[in-house]
Amino acid sequence: MQDIIDEIASQMLSRADKGKVATYIPQLARVNLEQFAISVATPDGQVVSAGCADTLFSIQSVSKVFTLTLALGKLGENLWHRVGREPSGDPFNSIVQLEHEQGKPRNPFINAGAIAIADAIMQGQAKETLAEILQFVRFLANDNTIAIDERVARSELETGDRNASLAHFMASFGHFHNPVDAVLGIYFHHCSIAMNTQQLATAGLFLANQGINPHTGYAVVSPRRAKRINALMMTCGHYDGSGEFAFRVGLPGKSGVGGGILAIAPGKASIAVWSPGLDPIGNSKLGTEALERLTHKTGWSVFAG
Ligand code: GLN
Repeated sequence: MQDIIDEIASQMLSRADKGKVATYIPQLARVNLEQFAISVATPDGQVVSAGCADTLFSIQSVSKVFTLTLALGKLGENLWHRVGREPSGDPFNSIVQLEHEQGKPRNPFINAGAIAIADAIMQGQAKETLAEILQFVRFLANDNTIAIDERVARSELETGDRNASLAHFMASFGHFHNPVDAVLGIYFHHCSIAMNTQQLATAGLFLANQGINPHTGYAVVSPRRAKRINALMMTCGHYDGSGEFAFRVGLPGKSGVGGGILAIAPGKASIAVWSPGLDPIGNSKLGTEALERLTHKTGWSVFAG
């Protein structure tokens, strides 16, 4: 495995076209494009890495996997009254379907869906809810050093008109239980959690291991729930690029505009890649290519016989 990912890392670093960093969140626009990291965590507890696997990056929408898991733990199947389970076929920050579908977002991974989930999770003060989300991510990664990058959170808030529109539009249907600004604060902050690929691959390992985190031995979710979260990652995790990601990589995956992707090879590995340059849809360009190469080399695609 080390040889495979070393080769992938050097191929990715030599690519001339690395995509473009997200500019609509000014703090993300400052990130150096010339960085690549990959970590592969396996159920036996090993984590192998190549590239700058110690460098922290903004996990952005990859955090939606963790808030979905937390929300399912709190609300169980009732969560599906708040969000759907269908791919949207629209960009991650699109508002068009919300009006036709009475303010119920298509799935938990588009922005509207994740904002609705932040509202569903919130009990009491926003600060406490945020602390609970961060604690949950630390628990999954088995690493108490993980923190929120406040500069990114502030940058998102300052440029968050679109997300505020989505939230207020949903609230206009009477779906919100908490003040919109407080919910948005939770959403912006969980998107601003900073992690490296080693931490992210470890945090996702329960999804590759029937719901159990092998580092702690703790059953995070049931095997059935792990299967379902993986299904949502496959169908919705890359927004209107989900079909293309399934075609090329063939694994459940969740991307973020920070350039990270968490991909799950059930029973085999949890893989985190990071390359800050994005494709036009907003998914990591070289991250996707690296995962495509990895599944070609390992045969790990869920569609490979
Ligand atoms: N925080 C980002 C936003 O709300 C998350 C989007 C993403 O990672 N695709 O726009």
